[in-house]
Parts: sequence; structure tokens; C-alpha cells
Amino acid sequence: MDHMRGLSDRELLAQCVKFGREALLWRNKFRALLPEVERRRLYRKKGYKSVYEFGERLAGLSMAQVAESLNVAERLEDKPALKDLLESGEVSVNKIVRVVSIATMENDGELAEKVQILSLSALKTYVQDLKLDSMVDQTSLVQEEINEYGLKGEVIQRLRELKEKGIDVNEALLEFLNQREEEIIQAKDHIVEELPESSSRYIPTRVKNILKQEYGTSCSVTYCRKPSGNIHHTRRFGLNPSHNPNFMAPLCKEHHQIAHSLDVKVTEIRMKK
Ligand SMILES: [Zn+2]
Ligand SMILES: [Zn+2]
Repeated sequence: MDHMRGLSDRELLAQCVKFGREALLWRNKFRALLPEVERRRLYRKKGYKSVYEFGERLAGLSMAQVAESLNVAERLEDKPALKDLLESGEVSVNKIVRVVSIATMENDGELAEKVQILSLSALKTYVQDLKLDSMVDQTSLVQEEINEYGLKGEVIQRLRELKEKGIDVNEALLEFLNQREEEIIQAKDHIVEELPESSSRYIPTRVKNILKQEYGTSCSVTYCRKPSGNIHHTRRFGLNPSHNPNFMAPLCKEHHQIAHSLDVKVTEIRMKK
């Protein structure tokens, strides 16, 4: 006790973080043993009625946690990379649970890598994206959104007027949209011509503005509606120190992490910790 009183806040916090992390590691390792305990009915040797009681008494696990451990292990039987990761205890079972529903023998290795690189929230987004990609009929999604534009009276009135004149409203809108895109492309070309060679990470205001015009305020990944918090350089800025808006995209926190996970090796990330 005296020893602890002598610790500074920083030292006390550092110990909490260290022991907390180790506690999680060993708990994960324990959870990975449960399927084998269950298979051998080993809990009986200790006088417990079930593997659930075994998990609760020995490691303070809830019934749900034991059930989850058994379920995940079973579903990873034919996915060696994820299975190894689970057994290593180095990533939380929660993260592995996230990818189980989309794991196949083919993407096993790739998913095991993502589980290590991405935070839990980025991983959720990554899995959602994969599920969206695999939806065959995305038009139904668009259909649902058709009434969500919140068109105001004046806009509706003017579109109606066009229609009454016999002008194809869809065509008129498409024309407007194409023109807008064309204007943005031209504005970007113009900016690129005048863009100074830059080694500073500071993004010029006119670049920020044109990106805002092009992408609005939300993440530039299709169907992602989260606010964009970061402007991402699609060519690594370290290798290509330029703020060319043709190679920049605003991303939400999660997609930004996913974008970087594509070209950063697991080992590099691990070293940063
Ligand atoms: Zn970035
Ligand atoms: Zn996003």
C-alpha cells in the first residue's frame, strides 16, 4: 500500500494500462482453451457441471462469453490464420467475432491481417463495406433513398414547370449534374497548374474548398454517411509531397484507417505501439 501511495499519477496509470493489457491477453488465451476443455469434458475432473461453470469459476467469464468462445472457435475450424490469432490471445475475441460472419477459407489470411491492424470501430466499418459490396442488387438501396432529398417547394415548383413545358426533367437534372462535375474538374486542373511544390503537410485553402465542393461534408466512400474528418492523400504524401486534389479524398475516421491499412504492413503498425 505504501508503495502505491508513492507512485505519481503517471506511474499509477502506466501500471493500470500494463496490467490491464496483460489481463486481457491471458483471458483471451484462457478463452481459446475452452473448446478443447469442452471436447474432453475436462471440467468434470475439476468437479464442475459444465464448461460454463468452469469458465466462470476459473476466469470470471460470463455464460455468454463462454458460449461465444465455443461458437467462434467452431466457426474458425477451417480458417487457420484467424484460428491461430484467436489462440495467440493477442487480439480481443470481440474483434474476431466481428469478422466471423464474412470469413471464408479464401479471405482468412487477409481478415487475420485486418483484425490486427484495424481498431474495433474501423473493423466494423470494413465488414459493413464488404457486406454492401456483396449485395447483388444495390438499386433497391437507391430506391429507398429517393424520397429523402428533402426537395423544397420552389425546387419542386420549377421542376414541375419544366415538365409542363415538355422538357424531360431527368435529362435536365443529369445535364446540371454533368455540368457541375465538369466545372469541378476544370477548377481542379486550374489549381494543379498553379500548385506550388510543397513539402508542407498544410493543405492550401483552395484545395480544401474544391474537395468540399466535390465531396460535400461526408466521407467520400460510397454509401458511407459519416462526417469526413481527414483529407487522405491517395498517393502517399511521404513519397509524393503534393496537394494535388485529384489524388486526395476526404474520409471518415474509420475509412481513413482502412485506407492506410492497405499499404502499411502489420509489423510497422505493431512497432508503433
Ligand atoms: Zn491518410
Ligand atoms: Zn467512411
